[in-house]
Amino acid sequence: MRCRLSRFPLTKAVPLTISRGTTGTVEHLVLELEHDGCTGLGETGGFDTGHRAYSSEALAAELEAILPALEGLEPEPFQAFEPLLQALSPPARCAVDLALHDWWGQRLGQPLWRLWGLDQAAISPTSVTLGLGSEAAVLERLERWWGQLPARRIKLKLGSPEGLDHDRALVGAVAQALERRHQTHGVACELQVDANGGWSLEQALPMLGWLDAQGVVLVEQPLAPLEDPEADCAAFAALELDCPIALVADESCWNLADLVRLAPYVDGVNIKLLKSGGLAEALLMARAAQRLGLGVMLGCYSDSALLNGAAAQLLPLVRWPDLDSHLNLVDDPFTGPVLEGDRLWPAASPGLGVIRARP
Ligand SMILES: [Mg+2]
Repeated sequence: MRCRLSRFPLTKAVPLTISRGTTGTVEHLVLELEHDGCTGLGETGGFDTGHRAYSSEALAAELEAILPALEGLEPEPFQAFEPLLQALSPPARCAVDLALHDWWGQRLGQPLWRLWGLDQAAISPTSVTLGLGSEAAVLERLERWWGQLPARRIKLKLGSPEGLDHDRALVGAVAQALERRHQTHGVACELQVDANGGWSLEQALPMLGWLDAQGVVLVEQPLAPLEDPEADCAAFAALELDCPIALVADESCWNLADLVRLAPYVDGVNIKLLKSGGLAEALLMARAAQRLGLGVMLGCYSDSALLNGAAAQLLPLVRWPDLDSHLNLVDDPFTGPVLEGDRLWPAASPGLGVIRARP
């Protein structure tokens, strides 16, 4: 198997501010695995959840170190890769997992969603994200999104360093804009919020009922994630009894084990391929969530159409798709997932269905 690792920049059309800071440009990595005339592509890149952080630099070093071992293997069977993959960090593993899945689908001549027997008719609208900022800036961002796609699901970032009053002002302003949209276009919109762990328990408890009264349907990660699994579960348990809207774990939920421990205390989990270490774990998580009666959100970081095209393979299993990062890039080297209205679809072509749009 021939392997190649390269770096590429990704620049956001509109920088995104969340409770932990602002992102404008990032560097991501693409891993190419070539064997028998098929080339599988996998992407990874650095991110920070508050309690765990990975740099693209460190991920590049991790992957470069295993390239000789990868070159000694053939893409099938997958199982032969497990010892190598388990030694990697989740985001480094994601690059290899995606490239192997892409290669496998291409070899079989089918998109992954079809190999998994998933039903495209089950795909829900994707949300678009409004970062933190002034009320005027957030409303301007919303209008810009609506100029790009007729989004019915809006995710508003909260946990502002300026405090709860600013969070409440943003929710009020966006809720009003959605109501105006309903009146003028006859389209009912859904408002979700994501605190990205920016609240304390004392701040979060009164916010939950207030958000419900504003018509907000879902709140993601109100409290900061904790490294100790028991303490992390206890934080969600303290919110769950008083939470009248859907409570979703993101930064706290990386893999199947996290999903199982959090299941009694949340209504859903946000699965992201960089946290799960790729599609193999993400598919397990999405299936397990269904069995446990949890809703699945499928999210992204500053990811290109390669990572989002891979994630899109799982969309039929997802209640709250949130794959909008590649829609906000000016220099995405990849193309794949198809946007129709406010629904994102995985490509019909084999594997991940993602190709290079430009060199
Ligand atoms: Mg989130």
